[in-house]
Amino acid sequence: MRRLSSRQLRARLLLAFLLLTGVCALAFGYYLAEARRLVGANYTAMVTDVVRAQEDPTRLRLSLDNLLARPSPGHVAQANDLLWRIPLRIEGIRRQLERSDLPPADYRPLLEELAWVETRLPRLSEAVSAAEEEGLAEPDREALLELGMAVEESLAWAYSELNELLHQASADQRRLMVRLTLAVAILLLLVLAAAGAVMVMLLKLHRQREAMREQSRTDELTGLFNRRRLLEAAAQELERRARHGTPLSLLLLDLDHFKRVNDAFGHPLGDRVLIGFAGLLEDQTRRVDLVVRLGGEEFAILVPDSGLAAARRLAERIRRAVGEMPLPGAAAGRRLTVSIGVAEALEGDDFDRLYGRADRCLYRAKEGGRDRVEA
Ligand code: GH3
Ligand code: MG
Ligand code: MG
Repeated sequence: MRRLSSRQLRARLLLAFLLLTGVCALAFGYYLAEARRLVGANYTAMVTDVVRAQEDPTRLRLSLDNLLARPSPGHVAQANDLLWRIPLRIEGIRRQLERSDLPPADYRPLLEELAWVETRLPRLSEAVSAAEEEGLAEPDREALLELGMAVEESLAWAYSELNELLHQASADQRRLMVRLTLAVAILLLLVLAAAGAVMVMLLKLHRQREAMREQSRTDELTGLFNRRRLLEAAAQELERRARHGTPLSLLLLDLDHFKRVNDAFGHPLGDRVLIGFAGLLEDQTRRVDLVVRLGGEEFAILVPDSGLAAARRLAERIRRAVGEMPLPGAAAGRRLTVSIGVAEALEGDDFDRLYGRADRCLYRAKEGGRDRVEA
């Protein structure tokens, strides 16, 4: 798998977090819309029916009064029409109640009251029809009025109780939904916070690992890369050479008689010289060249896209620059020299073979009197 840089990882984590936030927002929006749609919806329709039904007892009273004051076919028809409609209305409400999630214990007494009303309606209807045909004797008028009032009162009580019950249930449901909504919102926020925390931790961990990786590939004294990094880069570049045939060269550099510098001026000054030499190598090379400290006063430069001739020119330039490099402190005025071995990677070379050839050249340079380049 390709290794991600911290910046890439951060971008991806941020994207993932934004996506998660979007999903949470969508889920919450959906939840809110559904909750709004569902809360009280089943009660709203029922309340409308009950409110309409609540007019029935008053109408019944009115139409019986009219009938008794002036019995006429019109008034009889009006009363009978009402008496025909009341049980239909009761049946509708009964069905809605049974389908609702109200506790049956709450509405059972009301249904019983309405059932009682239903048993009285046929008698009331007979009495109403009789009133038209023959006019009513006083005792029958009394009986009709009494029955009518009993039905009216029962209906009015049952519907009013029912109305109250529905409003209560609707309010309870709404309160519950507000609490649930709050809980869902808190839950989603917690999920987002947890996801955010995990992502921040991941990023920190990744940065730490990258820093450790970098450290394990860096030379402490000079800040250059070390041998481990050279091995990695060389493997990559050799593969690139094998695939595309681009040339690749390696320089091995060893300071001449460096022990004498230490002996004459002390180890700390020797360190400063090494740091200065590292800086010179960086200055003399391109960004694509890899400068590493192999250890001690030995360095290497991996030079991509360069054949032997170009690599040798680079080595010469470095050799001359080292000869002119001013030395620090007490060593000022002394001249530092370097021996350099140069080799170009050949067909089928691995790193060891390339290194071996460059090392043999370096050896020749030392043998040949130092301060020289051998390729
Ligand atoms: P030659 O021309 O044959 O390379 O001689 P030389 O003295 O450079 O080689 P040699 O390998 O005999 O000695 C290398 C010296 O480099 C020995 C050691 O004192 C010094 N050296 C190695 N590492 C460090 C370092 O980190 N700091 C300092 N100041 N000196 C170092
Ligand atoms: Mg050496
Ligand atoms: Mg040396």
